[in-house]
Amino acid sequence: MGKATGFMEYDRIPSPVRDPKKRTRDWNEYSLPMPEVDLQIQAARCMDCGVPFCHTGEEIKNGVSGCPLHNLIPEWNDAVYRGEWREALDLLLKTNNFPEFTGRVCPAPCEGSCTVAISEPAVGIKSIEKAIIDRAFEEGWIKPQAPLKRTDKRIAIIGSGPAGLACADQLNKAGHTVTVFEKSDRIGGLLMYGIPTMKLEKDSVNRRVNLMAEEGVEFVTNIEAGKDITMEQLQAEYDSVVLATGAGNARDVQLPGRDAKGIYFAMDYLTQSIKDILDNNGVQTMSAEGKNVIVIGGGDTGADCVATALRQGAKSIYQFGHRDKLPDARTIKNPWPQFPKVFQMDYAHNEARAVYGDDPRQYLVSTTEFIKNSRGELTGLRTIDVDDIDAERNIKPVPNSEKIWEADIVLIAVGFAGTTKSVFEDFQVAKTNRHTIDARKGFYRTNVEGVFACGDARYGQSLVVTAINEGREAAREVDFYLMGETFLP
Ligand SMILES: Cc1cc2nc3c(=O)[nH]c(=O)nc-3n(C[C@H](O)[C@H](O)[C@H](O)COP(=O)(O)OP(=O)(O)OC[C@H]3O[C@@H](n4cnc5c(N)ncnc54)[C@H](O)[C@@H]3O)c2cc1C
Ligand code: SF4
Repeated sequence: MGKATGFMEYDRIPSPVRDPKKRTRDWNEYSLPMPEVDLQIQAARCMDCGVPFCHTGEEIKNGVSGCPLHNLIPEWNDAVYRGEWREALDLLLKTNNFPEFTGRVCPAPCEGSCTVAISEPAVGIKSIEKAIIDRAFEEGWIKPQAPLKRTDKRIAIIGSGPAGLACADQLNKAGHTVTVFEKSDRIGGLLMYGIPTMKLEKDSVNRRVNLMAEEGVEFVTNIEAGKDITMEQLQAEYDSVVLATGAGNARDVQLPGRDAKGIYFAMDYLTQSIKDILDNNGVQTMSAEGKNVIVIGGGDTGADCVATALRQGAKSIYQFGHRDKLPDARTIKNPWPQFPKVFQMDYAHNEARAVYGDDPRQYLVSTTEFIKNSRGELTGLRTIDVDDIDAERNIKPVPNSEKIWEADIVLIAVGFAGTTKSVFEDFQVAKTNRHTIDARKGFYRTNVEGVFACGDARYGQSLVVTAINEGREAAREVDFYLMGETFLP
């Protein structure tokens, strides 16, 4: 343990970020590095409490508690406090293949479960994680490490998001020959096309992919497995197949006027924006410049749409959600160490407030119609106010609450219903009633011999950290299936 009395002496220092108004003029990451002295003070706040919940990663009463990867948080906090950064790195890499991603984009369930957070702001675990891995890359400590011995086993991984990448990394380390197939033109799944560059610059995704390629993982892009290479071909050429195809089945909002021009799925919009940053000098071909934008969906994907439309120069932006504003502090139904469901200003909301003077979120709003003109172009939305969603997810309209909103662009960000339909047809795997691939947690085996599933395709829409964990655990099961024993963690 670092400093025994650190948690009493020091306050939490928030992660430094760039000025919210100025940063909307570019597409670069909004977070800044934390000075070393502040990091050591933050690490000193860790009590190394006897039964630390920060790394439990268990669901307690339907709430995620702690890090799903079981990161060795008190141990690396202590190493950082002592200035032993190399040791901290070794500890971090024991459980997390890609801390440069989680250190940037994770909502940090570990911090919600930190014991200090019962009475004070949590230990700044996420900023410490990011600092450890960023320093490791800067110092040149991260080098390709190909396995010393290869087995004769060949594995095909379908999908290159964090689940597929973590699974590939682990199986490659175990000496198997791994090929990752990706239908898109770039590797990374939602790390590449989904999570905006402001949260995660794509150089860090490419850096990791290049490192894995140097270690022997083969990456094949622009191939839709199941079609461009059939299931029969995969089964003939590989000893095992892992489906890490994500939860790409976007939910729609089917209402009168849905065919109006100007209504897009959030994922199509975000993907195009990132493609334009990477391939088109940033010139945005699906631009919200000068337009009134409404995002339907109160979650994180909706917030990413807000941040993107802001940078494109939208005239106005609102983000609609069915739910009520979250409370400022935990309620009795959401006790520690569950992930705290409390009001937060995401990076996008801070930016919108800095540019437009207000938080763009509108609570307890439900759209009833897309309004279009005689040319079929979207001109507005009709909404009603609603009472908060009940336990059965029903909404109750508030009488006489109808409103009309001006809108030239609507972005639909109401979540995902499992993996894409073609995956079930092409691979003949059984599906759950949530449209995810049916494979039991901890085993990851589908109904088809030798075919495994992990990540959002199996679990449903989740987080990068959950996907990495699923990929690691599935790799262990594949290794066991192929070799009859496994030394993978
Ligand atoms: C806009 C957005 C922002 C998000 N922001 C965050 C965040 O800030 N923090 C966080 O923790 N989580 C975030 N998430 C969630 C997180 O990105 C996902 O939970 C995670 O990426 C899931 O990983 P995965 O590997 O299971 O799937 P994905 O990342 O979805 O990758 C699946 C890949 O499989 C490919 N694929 C599918 N079918 C085939 C096929 N037949 N052949 C070949 N390839 C195929 C797809 O093209 C895709 O590249 C966000 C999600 C979205 C949509
Ligand atoms: S729960 Fe908080 S105080 Fe306890 S070990 Fe984890 S980070 Fe440290």
